[in-house]
Amino acid sequence: MRFEEIPGLIALKETLVLSNQRNHFAHAQLFSGQEGGAALPLAIAYATYLLCEDKTFADACGSCSACQKMAKHIHPDVHYFFPSAKLEKEEGMQQSRLNEVWRELIIEQPYAALGDLISALDTENKQNLISKADAKKIVQEVSMKSFEGGLKILIIWYPEKMNGAAANAILKVLEEPPANTLYLMVTYHYEDLLPTIISRLQLIVIPSFSEDELKGYLVKNHGATAEDAIKAYRFSNGSLPNAVADMREGNEDELNWFVDWMRNCISAKYDLLSQISEQFKKIPRSKQHIKMRWSLEMIRNAILAKGAEDLISSQGSERAFILKFSRAINLKGLELIYEDLSETLYYLERHAHSQMAQLALSIRLSQIIRIHRE
Ligand SMILES: [Zn+2]
Repeated sequence: MRFEEIPGLIALKETLVLSNQRNHFAHAQLFSGQEGGAALPLAIAYATYLLCEDKTFADACGSCSACQKMAKHIHPDVHYFFPSAKLEKEEGMQQSRLNEVWRELIIEQPYAALGDLISALDTENKQNLISKADAKKIVQEVSMKSFEGGLKILIIWYPEKMNGAAANAILKVLEEPPANTLYLMVTYHYEDLLPTIISRLQLIVIPSFSEDELKGYLVKNHGATAEDAIKAYRFSNGSLPNAVADMREGNEDELNWFVDWMRNCISAKYDLLSQISEQFKKIPRSKQHIKMRWSLEMIRNAILAKGAEDLISSQGSERAFILKFSRAINLKGLELIYEDLSETLYYLERHAHSQMAQLALSIRLSQIIRIHRE
């Protein structure tokens, strides 16, 4: 990953490059951003830049041996730490499987969120955290010399998932970092971090992608038309993987899925609702979020149809369904559905069990619809 591959954020990239050139960078930095944003790719691009043997003023070269190792995430002086659940009895096997799944995930999707890793590891029913044992590995890693004699970089993803014991274990090494060691922590829920950890880190806020940045990326990398790219941005909530998934899937599928789901909620067909939630679990997290956000937009439009029909943004079959749906349920009912959907989306984005959350929502919506029929 090079800076160039990440859309926009020009000023921030310059700051990172300059701090290195002036040899004036903090040895423990906290990249704070939103899921689906550039925090992790930027940390990786920054690490690549620092280690590159032939860097230019603005970016890593992309072809030296360090850059090649970084592209495969196998540089011996870059260590990744991330939340996980216990998989195997044997510690060694567990670690190598975790590293393999992690590498595959970030090569394929550098904008991944923890939910994607949990899905890939199939540990949705377990507690995924950075444990005290992981923290010990961090401390151990710091105490060893770097392989190639230069900088050693520890990238810690979701430090907010460190439990108290883990956080305490690494406080000391954070406070007195050995020379040539750089900690890059990548957080998405800054407010969940312990103050004692925050106070030892230099905070770098990673802004969300703007409409123009995401639009440019989708047009350049996915051959999107400007119009489709803007639409995808609308449902992405600034998340790059969401926008890409929306581009790929297209709105036709979203509409069919939503119509099918709502019909089964209206007729309270629990066996079919259960099948829908089973299928829901199998689609990637980013797509799950899009479906929910898209459904939310449809309900918002159905509320508008109650008195401000000219404000509805949808056209064609989408509009026809919204109008019909809006006539079937009273305003109170639509508002309750909107609230419930928003809340479920909130929990899904915080790694709730997707199948259970979606099914529970379906059952509640079914009840709301029954009580609030027009
Ligand atoms: Zn290079």
